[in-house]
Amino acid sequence: MSNDGGILQLSEQVRSGQTTAESVLESCLERIDCYDPVLGCFQNTFADVARERAREVDRLVNDGKDPGPLAGVPVAVKDTIVSRNEITTCGSRILENFVSPYDATVYTRLLDAGAVPFGKTRCDEFAMGSSTEHCAFGSVRNPWDTSRVPGGSSGGSAAAVAAGFSPASLGSDTGGSIRQPAALCGVVGIKPTYGRVSRYGLVSFGPSLDQVGPFARSVEDAAAILQVIAGEDVHDSTTIDTPVPDLLGELHSPIEKLRVGVPSEYLVEGNDPAVNERVHAAMDVYRSLGAEIIDVQLPLTDVGIATYYVIGPAEASSNLARYDGIRYGRRADLEPGEVLFDLYARSRSEGFGEEVKRRIMLGTYVLSAGYYDAYYKRALQVRRLIRDEFNSVFEQCDVLLGPTTNGPAFALGSKNDPLSMYLCDRYTVNANIAGICGISLPAGTVAVDGHELPIGIQLQAPALCEPTLLRAARMFEAAAGYENHLPDLKKTVASS
Ligand code: GLN
Repeated sequence: MSNDGGILQLSEQVRSGQTTAESVLESCLERIDCYDPVLGCFQNTFADVARERAREVDRLVNDGKDPGPLAGVPVAVKDTIVSRNEITTCGSRILENFVSPYDATVYTRLLDAGAVPFGKTRCDEFAMGSSTEHCAFGSVRNPWDTSRVPGGSSGGSAAAVAAGFSPASLGSDTGGSIRQPAALCGVVGIKPTYGRVSRYGLVSFGPSLDQVGPFARSVEDAAAILQVIAGEDVHDSTTIDTPVPDLLGELHSPIEKLRVGVPSEYLVEGNDPAVNERVHAAMDVYRSLGAEIIDVQLPLTDVGIATYYVIGPAEASSNLARYDGIRYGRRADLEPGEVLFDLYARSRSEGFGEEVKRRIMLGTYVLSAGYYDAYYKRALQVRRLIRDEFNSVFEQCDVLLGPTTNGPAFALGSKNDPLSMYLCDRYTVNANIAGICGISLPAGTVAVDGHELPIGIQLQAPALCEPTLLRAARMFEAAAGYENHLPDLKKTVASS
């Protein structure tokens, strides 16, 4: 694909007639035809609808009109984001053939900006997981080493960008599902501030935690997508009603006297040594850029997982009550003599996978009379403390630096108990709990079993401080030079 120059250049080439939206799309589709049978990033592609859309963009250009800032840019969309003409499964049998009657706001905004959404990417069922192995329709493989997971839950979106199938994609992040797979696939992933991006049309998992955000090959590309999808939405009352700042204008100007906080809780022995080594290297990069590295403490890092796995399942159990076999998706066949209750029970038993059932049971338990105060209410109290802790740390620094994950991509099937999977989210859940913004950036690779595996670093910034977050990220990227560093698919796929 000829967009090594990035999304903005690609869109400029389409607008100036140097290339066409249609040919850009075709080159993505060809690559997908060739390699996706091995990787499994896409649940479905809607090539004909997308071709039609691309031709419309080209027609606008021919007529001297401006199709928008993402003119002709193909974008893959996580299968949790609904659109009116295509199936959205959420990785679940219960929504196997579900077609939404409306488009998600982020989807509409992509179209309005001239982008060409062309496929839905695989994810863990209802976005519950950290490896994409909980997708009811099959796992996704990591393009750097196909015996490994891409991370999750937005594994298909991350892997599609790493594989060069699409210059950008959308994911959703409830506890790390954009940043963690971005780290494991060696691409950039942003979890925006809670309320920055509309959730209208994102299938709900934990609505007080969920945010949609972009994956791309560079900070600039990710910022270009975020710029378009962000902003207040009348359909989502939790969107923030402040104007979206210009994320691209000053992106390339370094921040003078940047204060980078590094929490001691983030560089523990439990991390893979390569992860700590990469974070230390990133600290050196920032020092060399004149930033001040400040030791800070975030002791509540340790209670993040426990808090998240009460609040997330509580909200999920309430949200997923709507899949009853009547209103949406799958409806089970009844045996003679069975009644309405059997219809609910059977549809849900057949339609939901094991992890989703576990979350529903956990959530129902922590919300039930007698346990509500002990678990749910307490988790909300801890949530406030986590928020306060971030606020006080952000008085000492502009951004926080640390690992995104505690290790590189793990082997498919290797984390087969729920707890070890949940522990993958140690460094990501607290940003969702507190509602702040975060980004994962490629920070080099480590050689494991003859494969280069990417390692990500995470930056976090206070709510609404995306401009600082992205400029700080770009400073690192420009100095460290890991942007556009993608795996050699021919080699990885051949050796799989
Ligand atoms: N891995 C976390 C979970 O399983 C986060 C998922 C997400 O962010 N959607 O819940």
